[in-house]
Amino acid sequence: MYEEKLIVPRPTIVDRQFTKPLLCGPGPCDIWPSVAEALSKPVLSPLCDELFDVMDDIRAGLQYLFQTKSKLVLAISGSGHSGMETVISNIVGPNETILICCRGIWDDRALEMSKRYGIKTKVHRILFNNTFSLTLIEGIVKILRPKALFITHGDSSTGSVQKLEGLGKLCHKYGALLLVDTVVSLASEPFFMDEWGVDGVYSSTQKGLSGPAGISPIAFSERAQEVIKKRNFKPPFYFDIELLAAQWNCFGNTRQYHHTLSPPLLWALRSCLKEVINETLPKVWARHAETTAHFHKRIEQLSLELLIPKPEDRLVTVTTVVLPKGYDYMEFVKYMRNKHNILIFPGLGPTVGKALRIGIMGVNSTIQVADAIADAMADTLIALKKSSL
Ligand code: PMP
Repeated sequence: MYEEKLIVPRPTIVDRQFTKPLLCGPGPCDIWPSVAEALSKPVLSPLCDELFDVMDDIRAGLQYLFQTKSKLVLAISGSGHSGMETVISNIVGPNETILICCRGIWDDRALEMSKRYGIKTKVHRILFNNTFSLTLIEGIVKILRPKALFITHGDSSTGSVQKLEGLGKLCHKYGALLLVDTVVSLASEPFFMDEWGVDGVYSSTQKGLSGPAGISPIAFSERAQEVIKKRNFKPPFYFDIELLAAQWNCFGNTRQYHHTLSPPLLWALRSCLKEVINETLPKVWARHAETTAHFHKRIEQLSLELLIPKPEDRLVTVTTVVLPKGYDYMEFVKYMRNKHNILIFPGLGPTVGKALRIGIMGVNSTIQVADAIADAMADTLIALKKSSL
């Protein structure tokens, strides 16, 4: 009866066939078979007891993953950026100061977000192929005395890993809280939230955890909780950690509805965590280290250069590789997909036109996958060899 009122006709939605590539970019990577299965479990209301149990399992799994005894641990509905919004907007208020240690695109995102919240921003930028020394950071924090310092642990735009040991203690000495992005390092690089004095940390599910994006682990220390209790500003409603804590029953006896959680994503995250728990963190870290060391050897055998000069600064999940003169990064990436069905990425932010970004993480962190990528790269180097060389 309303047919004649419809001003937009029905669109045609065609189911197109495709062959899934091996996902070897900086994320997402492939998902565990158990996670694919979990995604097809029944959709219940997030107010059912069955899902309360799933949320409790997730919180316990995340405490293990972050290595924290803090109770303020849960998962935000959204991709990694939602974790970034939550960590920043709950800790630093308008006209308070955040210091951003900048070496890649994610730090620039944190800067942009902070500005939108009316936070005073201070940036210390270093070269994209380098990492921060504690001495350098101490010199800056001592002068600026920010409310919080933001730093990225694993940077997928550059392929570097930032040493964090000792940084929390240093920040606390000068009254600052330490906020860390572990989107591409959690469940692949060693991480010890409590021991390293991290106060606010977030991650995502589509990298080391080998799950679908859309639900992001997050944790705040007890020190951060004290700051949150005393703050005189309100974060955005959707990212308000106090309301989220009440929904996730972080402190006992509260299952207060805040927003509708996605049951398939809850089941999926629980499954990702089960995979890590069954393997154990030390074994997960060792597997990533061994696979990537093998991949780096293969890259060097191809006479290719790694963008990050110091071996100790190289991230286990994302490797940045410099191509010889004459090769085009986009063309290389396209050939890898078209000929070998392997998805890798060109540079991003400071590494545009300077490197390939190759991700080997989660379920894909195996010698077979590393060899498949290296073999395909060897073929691509020959196929695209420029006569001008
Ligand atoms: N931080 C890092 C280190 C990342 O690699 C990414 C995503 N590539 C993000 C933040 C943003 O995460 P998302 O795309 O899941 O929002």
